[in-house]
Amino acid sequence: MKPVIAIVGRPNVGKSTLFNRFTKSRDAIVADFAGLTRDRHYGHGRLGKREFIVIDTGGFEPEADAGIYKEMAKQTQQAVAEADVVLFVVDARAGLSGQDHDIAEYLRRLGKTALLVANKAEGMREGAQLAEFYELGLGDVLPVSAAHGQGVRSLLELALDSL
Ligand code: GDP
Ligand code: MG
Repeated sequence: MKPVIAIVGRPNVGKSTLFNRFTKSRDAIVADFAGLTRDRHYGHGRLGKREFIVIDTGGFEPEADAGIYKEMAKQTQQAVAEADVVLFVVDARAGLSGQDHDIAEYLRRLGKTALLVANKAEGMREGAQLAEFYELGLGDVLPVSAAHGQGVRSLLELALDSL
């Protein structure tokens, strides 16, 4: 089985942009992946000879009786359950939010290790602006710019090496 990388985080932090980088903009494949749930965005990625599957979450289409937060929680939960590695994406420009804390707490409860990714970090000096994310208690903060491609390859290497 190819390793599965799940991208989670609150809306608008750049999850789908990162997903597109990983899959080189190939459309998310919604066909069957054995044993995986179908209602999210799956893609194939490759780093050298190493192939992997990446799951984007979001693009929420809440059922009438379920609010967006419930739907988001459900998608996050399913993606995390299927993942070998979780990338928890935060927004380096917007800073830490209550929802980030909730997601961190949720991942901690599940006992799932996640790499903490600070996106939109292009042109930022290391340190100052990223320091607050250490509060989440998830260890190192990995700055990337999904939009510009900075740090994306090293992030992927780190994620695949953590397996
Ligand atoms: P999602 O809701 O988490 O999937 O976020 P999207 O990938 O849809 O991105 C949300 C917004 O952030 C879009 O306007 C993107 O263009 C922007 N964005 C994504 N990545 C970056 C980045 O690395 N730098 C900056 N400045 N903006 C970004
Ligand atoms: Mg998205």
